[in-house]
Amino acid sequence: MARLLAELVAIPSENPPGKNYQAAARVLEKHIRRSGLDFKRLEPKAKPKSSKENPPCLLGVYGRGNRTLYFHGHYDVVPAQAPEQFKPVRKKHYLFGRGACDMKGGIVAMLYAIRVLKELGADLDGKIALVLTPDEETGGARGSARLVEEGLLGRAGIGMLTAEPTSGVVWNANRGAISLRVEVRGKAAHVGLQHRGANAFERMHCIVERLLALKREVESRTTRYAAEAEEESRPSALPAPDQGRFLGRHSILMIGGQSGGGTNFNVVPESCWFTVDRRTNPEESLEAEKERLVSVLEECKRDGIPLEWQIFQEGDSAASSEGEKLGRALAKNIAMVQGKAPRFELCPGLLETRFYAVRGIPAYAYGPGLLSVAHGPKEYVDMRRVVECGAIYALTALEFLGK
Ligand SMILES: [Zn+2]
Repeated sequence: MARLLAELVAIPSENPPGKNYQAAARVLEKHIRRSGLDFKRLEPKAKPKSSKENPPCLLGVYGRGNRTLYFHGHYDVVPAQAPEQFKPVRKKHYLFGRGACDMKGGIVAMLYAIRVLKELGADLDGKIALVLTPDEETGGARGSARLVEEGLLGRAGIGMLTAEPTSGVVWNANRGAISLRVEVRGKAAHVGLQHRGANAFERMHCIVERLLALKREVESRTTRYAAEAEEESRPSALPAPDQGRFLGRHSILMIGGQSGGGTNFNVVPESCWFTVDRRTNPEESLEAEKERLVSVLEECKRDGIPLEWQIFQEGDSAASSEGEKLGRALAKNIAMVQGKAPRFELCPGLLETRFYAVRGIPAYAYGPGLLSVAHGPKEYVDMRRVVECGAIYALTALEFLGK
């Protein structure tokens, strides 16, 4: 399993922009076939708007009949902080590298879970379908969202598990997201002649003031879902993460994750831009919250501030009950393998469970690794946890689909 994970980590399937997807897909296809699963590429008919090639979505199936339990993973990774992150390093039980926990380690666990069921000749009332997609890290537009549009995702689904690094808990709900970029226009002029210009930065300030008022309002709302991740064992050389970032049950409106503008300190800035990242709780309506946010920008525009905005990420929140048969089977087998029942929590980010949950398919995330090291410069996974998660997936599938 570690060898396969190292092979996958060594392929820089960075997203954005979405590099080396074909190379990653070739390796995954090879291993799905080698595991004896029925393999197929899920090919949407429409080409994506934003790229020339069709980013590959893969399907590996074991079992028969219609009832399908989906194992779902994404093989894209966020960009590396250093190129060495694509040279996997093994230290004792830990494998370091970009994607080790988010979520190539999880993919390996899922593939081996199906493989072991096949090798043991498990007699299932239904089938397990492993779906591997690109593009999750930027909202799934060229991956799962396209499969949804063409009716290729979740067919005959009765349950779904995804292997995100959940730090030992189960995510049965996720926040929604509306991420946008605002650009404010002005007119350039030399600082000594600033009366001839129009300062885009100062105009931007007015917009930010109004957004801050909205922020105070939305961030007073809280969710009923638990939202505090637990931690598992980590290599002792690494510092403990900031646990505070997991404590929020409040709705989120973050301003200025990225910003920029102007050409020099002594020139009136002609344009300025910043990003807004609105994360909604499951109790909030994405449509209503989007309207609310956009109405602030429209109001600024009506008041004479020249601005434009572009939504570059949008995804709805979703939730599945802990009490579904699949949720119970997952919790029971986590307890059996780990010796302790898991907590069910709200995922702080977007989650591809939403594409299934929206169709009424109970969907949960549980996988090896810590959310706090995913996307970071020292990303790693504990291989013992990858093995244990493989066992948990196999036992859960056996219980859920067993005859
Ligand atoms: Zn992920």
